[in-house]
Amino acid sequence: MAEPTLFTRIIDGEIPADIVYQDEEVTAFRDINPQAPVHILIIPNQPIPTVNDATSDDEKMLGHLFVVASRIAKEEGISEDGYRLIVNCNRDGGQEVFHLHMHLMGGRPLGRMIKTSDPL
Ligand code: 5GP
Repeated sequence: MAEPTLFTRIIDGEIPADIVYQDEEVTAFRDINPQAPVHILIIPNQPIPTVNDATSDDEKMLGHLFVVASRIAKEEGISEDGYRLIVNCNRDGGQEVFHLHMHLMGGRPLGRMIKTSDPL
């Protein structure tokens, strides 16, 4: 059997984390290295390595990630000012943990998505 991912180990309680929401499909916990006052990761309980691996069977869960993000943003008091949802994929996307996850970030103005000085 494949090794459990880092995030599966968090779901299983082997690695401590500040879990802010959990249901039968997804779990949300605070990022260990926050890049904004609110930085929460929302993950499927059943790991999918990257967005490339998502199938039509995952559509309900993937939609649920957004509904949970909206709910948490309200609970965290950032929904009106706004926030950013990010899903990184593979090397160029900067993905480090290969258990698909949505970053929910807010609590300050986040600026442009990509620096305008970056080359295309
Ligand atoms: P990625 O770069 O894969 O999109 O994001 C991975 C995120 O997981 C990073 O923001 C990183 O700080 C976070 N992270 C890595 N290891 C841990 C951990 O053990 N606990 C928590 N809560 N977050 C982690």
